[in-house]
Amino acid sequence: MPLHLEVITPERRVYEDDVDMVIAPGSEGYLGILPHHAPLFTTLGPGEFRVKKGGVEEALAVFGGFMDVRGNRVVVLTDAAEPAEEIDSRRAQEARERAQQALAAGALSAADEQRARAALQRALVRLRVTEGRRRRR
Ligand code: ATP
Repeated sequence: MPLHLEVITPERRVYEDDVDMVIAPGSEGYLGILPHHAPLFTTLGPGEFRVKKGGVEEALAVFGGFMDVRGNRVVVLTDAAEPAEEIDSRRAQEARERAQQALAAGALSAADEQRARAALQRALVRLRVTEGRRRRR
C-alpha cells in the first residue's frame, strides 16, 4: 500500500503520485514518512523534500507550509515548492553570492539583514536540492 502524496501551492498542484517514502523538512527537523505512519500534522521549514518511489528518488525545494499525514495520504500545503528539475542552479549560486556579499559587507539595516539571510537560506536549499539531483544520477 503506497503513500498518496500531494504537494499543493496556491498556484498549482506541484506533485501528485503514489510513492514509497517521503522525507520532509519538518520545522523541528527532517521526518521520514512510510506507509501506515501515525496521523501527523506539522509545519515545514525551508528545506529539501525528498520522495522515494520504486528505487528512484526525487527532490523538491519547499519553503515552509504544512504537512498532513492521515492514513496513507500525505498532503503538503505550501506557498512555494520547486521540483529539482525546475531549479536553475546558476541562478541560485548567484543569489547565494549576492546574499553572502551583502552580509559580509555589513552595515545593513535589521530588515535588510533579515532579507539577505532569508535569500541566502532559499539559495542554499535550492543548491542542496540540485546537488542531490546530480548525486543521485
Ligand atoms: P533570486 O534572487 O534569484 O530572484 P529569490 O530567492 O529572491 O531568488 P524568490 O523570491 O524566492 O527568488 O522567487 C521568485 C520566483 O523565482 C519564484 O517563482 C521562484 O520559484 C523563482 N526562482 C527563484 N530562484 C530560482 C532558481 N534558482 N531557479 C528557478 N526558479 C527560481
